[in-house]
Amino acid sequence: MIEKYRVVPDQIIKEIALSRRLPLNHYLQPTLKSSINIGKAGYKGEKEVDYYLELLPNDKFRIFQGIRLPRDSYFFQMDNLILLPEFILIIEVKNIEGTLFFDQEHNQFYRISRLTKERQKMNDPFKQVKRHRKQLFQWMAKHGFPLVPIEYLVVNTNEDTLFDSSGNQHDMFEKIIHSEYLLEKVYKLEQKYQKEYLNDKDLRKLSKQLLKADTPLIFDIRQFYKFDDADLIKGVRCPQCNTVPMTWYKRAWQCDKCKHRSKDAHKPALHDFFLLISPATTNLKCREFLKCDSTDTIRYLLKSMNFKTKGIKKGMQYTLSFPPSQILK
Ligand SMILES: [Zn+2]
Repeated sequence: MIEKYRVVPDQIIKEIALSRRLPLNHYLQPTLKSSINIGKAGYKGEKEVDYYLELLPNDKFRIFQGIRLPRDSYFFQMDNLILLPEFILIIEVKNIEGTLFFDQEHNQFYRISRLTKERQKMNDPFKQVKRHRKQLFQWMAKHGFPLVPIEYLVVNTNEDTLFDSSGNQHDMFEKIIHSEYLLEKVYKLEQKYQKEYLNDKDLRKLSKQLLKADTPLIFDIRQFYKFDDADLIKGVRCPQCNTVPMTWYKRAWQCDKCKHRSKDAHKPALHDFFLLISPATTNLKCREFLKCDSTDTIRYLLKSMNFKTKGIKKGMQYTLSFPPSQILK
């Protein structure tokens, strides 16, 4: 069963919001575009692996599609975590292109480009997942769980990638596989482990504790990109022709250019405000951001959106009552 479903990373959601609120010729646009593309490709790869993992028998496999756990003063994030009575499996998702080559003599990984055949040194693709394995052992011990075998796999979602090595020992290539062989590999591991380490009660308890400890990364976009609020394009965007701003006229937003009218075009604009400027807003700040002078109109719009409120009158603060990952829907 899926204990935790994957959500779109906070970073991508916020970067997309920033990109659409900055002028097309803004100096941050190329960096944002590249980062959004990398983020989307990573997310797509993870979803591809989710597709296979969701085919596993529901009653036996407890799957966490991405989980981030605290360990002392830092966190460690696993792309997939699977619990079974006999063992635990961590799966990292990578997208390595060309040929992954291991030079056994020098204990060094290389990526060989398909086009230029150029050899480029690369980090050990197993290093991160091995570290996660160690951290999970420690986390479980700290929370009083028995010592359970923890296996790991690296799934490469680029199916054209070749794996090669300079020697005869191909052990590590047992641990890195293409996604289409993932289920076969998981069933093989299942056969390898016969002894039960976690009973039903342990598994339920472990799942509960993992979900409780899970702390998704909140991306601080203001700190990261250090953009100037004055550069942000303010106003409600026309859903028909993209013109900013629309004008509130006769109880709806109206586009000055194409005359399109909308009752809820302010919603994406307010979401952008929460994602980019502050997690809380006031009537005044909304008037500025939505480019609408009427206090009553803004109060009416905010009231219709089911925000959490704090304070009274002019000082009333509105905050999101749902996670930003739902905004994209
Ligand atoms: Zn328009």
